[in-house]
Amino acid sequence: MGLSKQQVERYARQLIVPEVGVRGQQQLFQASVLIIGAGGLGSPASLYLAGAGVGRLGIIDSDVVSLGNLHRQIVHATQHVGQPKVASAAQRITQLNPDVVVEPIHDRLRPAMAQELCQRYDLMVDGSDNFPTRYLANDVAVVLGKPLVHAGAIHVGGQVLTVLPRQGACLRCVFPEPPLPDAIPTCQAAGVLGSVAGVVGTLMAHEALKLLLGIGEPLVNRFLIIEGAASRFREVALRRDPACAVCGDHPTIRDILADNPDYQSSPAPAEVCSGLAV
Ligand code: ZN
Repeated sequence: MGLSKQQVERYARQLIVPEVGVRGQQQLFQASVLIIGAGGLGSPASLYLAGAGVGRLGIIDSDVVSLGNLHRQIVHATQHVGQPKVASAAQRITQLNPDVVVEPIHDRLRPAMAQELCQRYDLMVDGSDNFPTRYLANDVAVVLGKPLVHAGAIHVGGQVLTVLPRQGACLRCVFPEPPLPDAIPTCQAAGVLGSVAGVVGTLMAHEALKLLLGIGEPLVNRFLIIEGAASRFREVALRRDPACAVCGDHPTIRDILADNPDYQSSPAPAEVCSGLAV
């Protein structure tokens, strides 16, 4: 399949990148990504994936846009306040790049449908705001054997980890169980600088594009910590835990069961961006 004249023009600065080229661009056209959360992290991630020409983007989020989202959730605009975030994001993405097929899902990732939904995409990026969703996304990725880019941001810092199931550590290898409710502050309580969410969300898109193109070195077994106050990145080396409940040698989580307490939601925070304590 050749590129149209318009596509050559649209992707010109990307096509001449040696790591991309026409072949890489066609790989991106064929690719699909599920973005979990259309908030502070999902916003930049979705825009860069759309701009790059990823063929199909699913976006799942159950919230509506509020005025307090807009300092960091750059896929939305003032006129979208009160609308579902996925509708607002789909509209903006289509305006940015009509080549992209957007699949808005106005819901939260739930155990009953997570496996079937994620099965339809090449990889997932998780910018969700709560631990039940994060653990569910992690477990689904491992059960399905699909890559997952995990991230979080809070205050002026954040973190990113790419999970390649059974090739490297998953979220549970690092944090076997979710923290107790209220043990970790949410963005609603603690806040986040919009530019920090931008850096972290952009890194999510970057990791996803590398995986789709098959280039570079993913953040596997490397927990990237963004120290925004010093503008410093540092890494914590990880390794897969053979005793991990989901990706270990004798996993106890082999299927996504709705009664797993790790997936039970406490009342969802209205804001999107809580981070993991590290
Ligand atoms: Zn694991």
